Amino acid sequence: MPILSFVQAMIEPSTDIRAAVTWAIENGFHGVEISGRSISPNTLSNADIDWLIAQATEYGITYTIHFPMDTAPGSHDLERWNRDLDVMKLALQIAGKISCPVIVLHPGPIDNPGIEPLEASEGLRQESIENLRRFLREAAPHASEAGTAICLENMHHRQGDVIQSYQDLIDLVDTVDHPNIKITLDVGHAFIHDGLPEAIAAFGDRIHHIHLDDALNGKDHLPIGKGELNLDLYADMLQPGKTIVATMEVGRGPGAQLVSREALRARFGEIFT
Ligand SMILES: [Zn+2]
Repeated sequence: MPILSFVQAMIEPSTDIRAAVTWAIENGFHGVEISGRSISPNTLSNADIDWLIAQATEYGITYTIHFPMDTAPGSHDLERWNRDLDVMKLALQIAGKISCPVIVLHPGPIDNPGIEPLEASEGLRQESIENLRRFLREAAPHASEAGTAICLENMHHRQGDVIQSYQDLIDLVDTVDHPNIKITLDVGHAFIHDGLPEAIAAFGDRIHHIHLDDALNGKDHLPIGKGELNLDLYADMLQPGKTIVATMEVGRGPGAQLVSREALRARFGEIFT
């Protein structure tokens, strides 16, 4: 049974992890995805970490972390690449302390100072993939030490992105070849771009975590049941042993979280912890 969680920032104040966890407890959730902003630039304090551990113990809460989105782990800018790697090491340290099984990482943009991402050549993109591979190889031992997995998320394959296809992501994970480097499947991203059944078939057991959302007319992250994404398409991914945590990544506000959980319950019954 996957643990059903939601995104911290959907509960106001959006930067206050305690507000989100308190809301989770009050509403019978057992998971919260900690927003990147709680790692950098506003790192959780030791008091917050102790408080999170206490809530996890008392109420059976599992945390995941969404790595900050304004990072570029495939960057050519060594200073930025090192800074992002330091933030990743910090996130991994915190993950270890709060027993977090997943850190979601966006593969990010092609980032070469002086070259517009949209203008980047295929050669530059391949170099960016290599930078990203080095980033993951540096981070992987810290992930295993922390008992967590870095999960690369399938994104939109837009021009300027480092990753342009499912196969790119698979090749990256397979060449890093480390048990703590996995994939987060975002069902909405897959649905509106290269296909959800195709993503599930291609990624296979590299999928360690799932982002649930709905999509309509090319727009994703809608509350579940409010779009055109048939829940049957990801039913298999919610079977026991497939993913530990299923995170609803839907906007906006607490109402959307409750509506989404109801839609999941209506289709799947009480399969979530
Ligand atoms: Zn996502």
